[in-house]
Amino acid sequence: LDPKAQTVLDEIEEHNVDFLRIQFTDILGTVKNVSIPASQAEKAFTEGIYFDGSSIEGFVRIQESDMRLRPDPNTFALLPWKTRDDGTASARLIADVTDASGADFKGDPRHVLKRALKRAGDMGYTLNAGPEPEFFLFEEEDGRATTITHDAGGYFDLAPKDLASDVRRDIIYGLEKMGFEVEASHHEVAEGQHEIDFKYDDGLTTADNIATFRAVVRAIAAEHDLHSTFMPKPIAGINGSGMHTHLSLFTEDGENVFHDEDDEFNLSETAKQFLAGVLEHAPAITAVCNPTVNSYKRLVPGYEAPVYVAWSDVNRTALIRKPAARTPAASRVELRSPDPSCNPYLALAVMLHAGLDGIERGLDAPDPVRENIYEFDESTREEYNIDVLPPNLGAAIDALEADDVILDALGKHVAEKFIEAKRAEFDEYRVAVSEWELEKYLETF
Ligand code: GLU
Ligand code: MG
Ligand code: MG
Repeated sequence: LDPKAQTVLDEIEEHNVDFLRIQFTDILGTVKNVSIPASQAEKAFTEGIYFDGSSIEGFVRIQESDMRLRPDPNTFALLPWKTRDDGTASARLIADVTDASGADFKGDPRHVLKRALKRAGDMGYTLNAGPEPEFFLFEEEDGRATTITHDAGGYFDLAPKDLASDVRRDIIYGLEKMGFEVEASHHEVAEGQHEIDFKYDDGLTTADNIATFRAVVRAIAAEHDLHSTFMPKPIAGINGSGMHTHLSLFTEDGENVFHDEDDEFNLSETAKQFLAGVLEHAPAITAVCNPTVNSYKRLVPGYEAPVYVAWSDVNRTALIRKPAARTPAASRVELRSPDPSCNPYLALAVMLHAGLDGIERGLDAPDPVRENIYEFDESTREEYNIDVLPPNLGAAIDALEADDVILDALGKHVAEKFIEAKRAEFDEYRVAVSEWELEKYLETF
């Protein structure tokens, strides 16, 4: 048995764990669970866990449905809201998905990310990624979610206005028990909106952390009879929820490749090429980083969300921002378009491939834009050569289909299933008749 797996078995003993949840993520980013009694843990490590892949979104056809889960011992964590009075506990492990023979499954988002990290590794880099997920807390009524916010706080407000600080505190305790290092949390700009930032980590750990984060927030909000949502724009007319993602590349010996002391922005040539790659592939990666119909209601001017394909060292209306860095290790770029409804594995994979493509091709970054781009008219945008992000999911899927680098990043299996599912979602939306239309037209015509 792998020594790390042995450590997990010891921890299972020590913490009196009776059930283990083995988790993985489908192509659309939904976390799936298989529960096994702790007595089966050793076998799970040595033989894996067989399951029927045909019932998982975007996985396989019925005639090839035998799949296997290979739990990753590095991901062992106790589920803090599952510790019972009799002292027993539940824990989770995140698994890689393989086919019945044990070969990596191309439809597993975690595999897609590992492939991206390997490409970076072959170029001599490791990825550091730090996300800033935002979310809303809403009241529940008769067990159903509403859009009634349960506080009227605003940015960085303090109690008593910020009633949610108790909930946030419990969420943070929960995250810490699961091994997170929480760096900051605050009430966001909108009523009922919050942000909790946890420490950056390598790409794979960060993707696992985002998936875990969403589960912890949901479970602990529910304990307070609140509904948490990572839906990007639950309420029109106020800020939506983003998941800004900070990215940098390090060498194997832990040196930040993105830092250059002598550069005006402290960004190295490599960082600028990376940034240029992300700008070039921005329309296609939007389909993955902003994968719902609702995502595009957030990407509109006026709500601190990006709309224009540009970068800046000062303002927050650009797609990419260069945050101020106190130390060389902290030099990084912040991509502001992703939202927390994305599949974190696929999102990090496409961001990374886009940037690596920029490095490989030695792309030049444009000049940063220092003005408020929301206020530019079309001719000024043309003069600065600034593109616009896709206006809706359909246009984003078109952009993805036209971008071979990003299609390759996803791999044939995931790209096909993803596009098929998202086209269907967009078509469903296209034919639906909304409240807005009824209000606008029903009595007018
Ligand atoms: N909520 C904003 C968004 O949709 C971001 C606000 C911020 O700068 O943190 O991206
Ligand atoms: Mg924020
Ligand atoms: Mg930010």
